[in-house]
Amino acid sequence: MSASAADVAYHGIRRMLSSGELVPGQRLSQSRLARQLQCSPMPVVEAMRRLESEGLLDKQPRKQARVRMLSRSDLDGLYLLREALETVIARLAAERITPEESRELQELAQAHERAWEVVQHESEADVAIHRHIARCARCPLLQGELERFRLIELTAGRHLRPKQTRPGHPHIHRALVQAIIDHDSASAEYLMKKHIQNGYEEAQREFDAHLENLPKTSRNTHRKARRHEAPGMSPEKLN
Ligand SMILES: [Zn+2]
Repeated sequence: MSASAADVAYHGIRRMLSSGELVPGQRLSQSRLARQLQCSPMPVVEAMRRLESEGLLDKQPRKQARVRMLSRSDLDGLYLLREALETVIARLAAERITPEESRELQELAQAHERAWEVVQHESEADVAIHRHIARCARCPLLQGELERFRLIELTAGRHLRPKQTRPGHPHIHRALVQAIIDHDSASAEYLMKKHIQNGYEEAQREFDAHLENLPKTSRNTHRKARRHEAPGMSPEKLN
């Protein structure tokens, strides 16, 4: 099998995960994916293995896989990792940002404030700011890992996202962006930490609200699973 066929399959499935074409808990069929991606099954098998090792798919018996569905312990882990990573990124960005990058960051912050009025566009503007800050930190390994965590949260937690506005957010961004532009690394580090911690509290509330809306039997099953640190919620019960 050529490496490029596996790469094409890998990027194709990743695209389907980030667009929501594949949803949390969905069982993946190798032959169907091969048909959709117009390739043979072997590159799909290889791509699925890679996506499992990245935490985007859950391995199932008999060489099957499912799209990962975020569990409470996944959520905890993701936010603790993001806090550690993005705090360092904010400090490095404040130390290394160039005047041109500062201008771009300022523009992205303004776009975010405008997008705040339209909730479905807000998260894209938010991601654009965080990505730009990560680029300014000039540490590709940190940047790559942050992208992976973001993709896990986006794909495995898609069913948890609320429709309502999130209060207080643009204000924190404004202060964070200013600290980075001012090369004030201590404040940038502190504000990013607060920002991620606020996001974590919000995500926990969304997760619990989602759980409360489930039928009582599913909730009990899930709570029991949580006590044993199960890797994910039962998809049949949630969809
Ligand atoms: Zn943000």
